[in-house]
Amino acid sequence: MAWSQAWSLAQQIFSYTNHTLMHEALETWPVDMLGRVLPRHLMIIFDINAEFLASVNARFGTDLDLMRRLSLIDEHGERRVRMAYLAVVASHKINGVSKLHSDLMTKSIFADFARVFPERFTNITNGITPRRWLSQANPPLSALIDEKIGAGWRRELDQLAGLRPFADDPDFIAAFRAAKRQNKLRLADWVEAHLDIDIDPDSLFDVQVKRIHEYKRQLLNVLHVITRYNRILANPAADWVPRTVIFSGKAASAYHMAKLIIKLINDVAHKVNNDPRTGGRLRVVFIPNYSVSLAEVIIPAADLSEQISLAGTEASGTGNMKLALNGALTIGTLDGANVEMQEQVGPENIFIFGNTTPQVKEIRAIGYQPRQYYESNPELKLALDQIRDGVFSPDDTARFHLIFDTLVGFGDHYLLLADYASYVRMQDEIDRQYRNSDRWMRKAILNVAGMGMFSSDRTIAEYARDIWRVGSLQLQS
Ligand SMILES: *Cc1c(COP(=O)(O)O)cnc(C)c1O
Repeated sequence: MAWSQAWSLAQQIFSYTNHTLMHEALETWPVDMLGRVLPRHLMIIFDINAEFLASVNARFGTDLDLMRRLSLIDEHGERRVRMAYLAVVASHKINGVSKLHSDLMTKSIFADFARVFPERFTNITNGITPRRWLSQANPPLSALIDEKIGAGWRRELDQLAGLRPFADDPDFIAAFRAAKRQNKLRLADWVEAHLDIDIDPDSLFDVQVKRIHEYKRQLLNVLHVITRYNRILANPAADWVPRTVIFSGKAASAYHMAKLIIKLINDVAHKVNNDPRTGGRLRVVFIPNYSVSLAEVIIPAADLSEQISLAGTEASGTGNMKLALNGALTIGTLDGANVEMQEQVGPENIFIFGNTTPQVKEIRAIGYQPRQYYESNPELKLALDQIRDGVFSPDDTARFHLIFDTLVGFGDHYLLLADYASYVRMQDEIDRQYRNSDRWMRKAILNVAGMGMFSSDRTIAEYARDIWRVGSLQLQS
């Protein structure tokens, strides 16, 4: 087959779904190495690049800066192949996985390509399967939903909207609470049996389960936990809302900081759980070896879902959808699919905090100085000093110096300190609202009712229609 026909076919066949804007995930390969290992591939890449840049020149005139920016070869320093750019040039469609992410994609890494190929860029928001994440994982809630609106939601998740009228029905609220409690007891039994930690099923189950990564900001959650611990010790007679803070997630094998974060969570848990002065009103649990099977036990038991990545860093998230589908309320930033979840459930039924993507950009442009937040917020300073001084690691008081330095001294790349005050304020508001159990359950029901669009059936139908251009088949029954 001649090249032009082959290339045209390839472009009609390939499409590219981008899953992250994180710099380290966007691969570039040294031209030298490629030339040694795959010399014929490199020749073809050069040919694709030459043809592409010639077509750009023909359309936009000779603009050397534009050519440098669009080239498949990065010529700053050691020459490297930009693999994501190759995927864009080779594909008839390029999509992100949430509205915000797709929008940022065409404004940041692919801004020039979006000008050259506007018709190629689109969004397809991620989804989750209701068969696993509700029907299989949560039998008590599934049975309750079946009773009210029938079983059809398993294939048409939009039917969950039919629960909205029951959000004010006292009997339904009571039954919804009972289903949640059953799931909390199931998780409490699991934790007791496997980790020998006693947790109170009547406490607020505050859950952050996802890969351990600095951008997901498990450390911001830990800073709140330490602040809560300090507040309880300073005022033990106050009427604290009991909380169980549950973490789970794996660290990549060579990601030293992520492993140190896991160590800190475990050390904080050890100290907090063994301090009688908390009166059992704060428990911290790290569940090792996070997996889909574990997620199916943890997620139905959650009251609160932690989706606290720095705005502009999480492409979509799907854990956020699983937790809301199981009646957890979300505390989250305006990041990834959280933005669309807020649209679906209404701003009064989700706890949004923190700097937005444009605000993050602005803070960085001015010159972010985390030490100013550290110096001016006494509760934040106390928590960070305790981490630095070995309060949670008396056996090795220098263990967490790197965490302190990363946040206070080395620039706090994910702006934890800038979002801390807003986060803790929202956690206080959550305590206040959790005390009114009927109102809380009402919001939880409205979250479940609003998750229809986050079915992966909708996602896959959009890929089939807009990208793969395949129709449906009628199965013989
Ligand atoms: C859903 C899921 C994830 C993704 O979680 P996020 O919170 O979206 O990062 C990761 N791991 C497992 C096991 C999951 O089930």
